[in-house]
Amino acid sequence: METIISKDIQKAVSLLTNNELVAIPTETVYGLAGNIFSEKAIKKIFSTKQRPFFNPLIVHISSIEKLESIASYVPEKAKILASAFWPGSLTLVLKKNNAVPDLITAGKDTVAVRIPNHPITLQLLNLLPFPLAAPSANPFGSISPTKPTHVAHYFKNNIQQVLDGGSCKNGIESTIIGFEDETPVVYRLGALSIEKIEAVIGKVSVKNNKENKPDAPGMLARHYAPKTTTLLVNDVRAEIQKHSSKKIGVLTFKDSLNDDTITEIVLSKNGFFEEAAAKLYAAMHQLDAKNLDIIIAERFPENDLGKSINDRLQRATFK
Ligand code: AMP
Ligand code: MG
Repeated sequence: METIISKDIQKAVSLLTNNELVAIPTETVYGLAGNIFSEKAIKKIFSTKQRPFFNPLIVHISSIEKLESIASYVPEKAKILASAFWPGSLTLVLKKNNAVPDLITAGKDTVAVRIPNHPITLQLLNLLPFPLAAPSANPFGSISPTKPTHVAHYFKNNIQQVLDGGSCKNGIESTIIGFEDETPVVYRLGALSIEKIEAVIGKVSVKNNKENKPDAPGMLARHYAPKTTTLLVNDVRAEIQKHSSKKIGVLTFKDSLNDDTITEIVLSKNGFFEEAAAKLYAAMHQLDAKNLDIIIAERFPENDLGKSINDRLQRATFK
């Protein structure tokens, strides 16, 4: 299975040039990438992921100059954000350029775009004459992949290469910002905190809805979900009491239960949000593989990346 994991960047160039898909490393999560101008490749992304066509894809470019070939208009605050945070975990939703195929944008007149901050993928993008569309490299609705093995496990023989870039440094998806007229609106909380964004452009509103057909369909109420029933609670110990006959797995922020009978993952012993976010999905993958009856996850403090982590945990636990 793991033979598809390889560091061979020339192989990735050749596959992508031939309308095939390659899973690529980014600092957020692994992406399932294809040439934005290849209808064959883009259709394959949707079918491999079993992703509905109403859910548009993020376009990945290698430099701000390339934005002109993707977007027809860039608001002033988008320019400020791009120069402050790119390459990085911020996706901008902008009016699309005619060259961007409708399949990518699900027929919308806007396109989501970012420069990922991963040296291998930046190198790959620089070798290619086209941008890459890349949604997260997981089947629709399941836990996003943060390690090459997660992708290989999901797609086995359906893709030919996972370009090995190690574990994703940030570990949760990008923050998505769109513009209503010239006003920035956060559509998805993510790896770049609202606090950091507001430090650069001032107060932003957040429309992080849990709807069934939201503006950014990554915002579906149930998403990023393990197969095991998962609960999100403030008091883990109290919740454990209610499930005493069950095989329980626990996911906490910084505190250990010190109980050998319970499978437990502590995300950051020293209480760092960045570390917890980076380890979150790998921990969910790990607990999900243990045949537990239930996973009990601890709610994070509602500030900084704690907000984004709670968002993912809520969607993972929504029924
Ligand atoms: P992922 O599949 O994890 O990479 O998620 C991509 C996210 O970007 C999804 O939530 C999409 O709905 C969102 N997205 C992509 N294009 C647009 C767009 N034009 N407008 C709003 N959201 C978008
Ligand atoms: Mg996704």
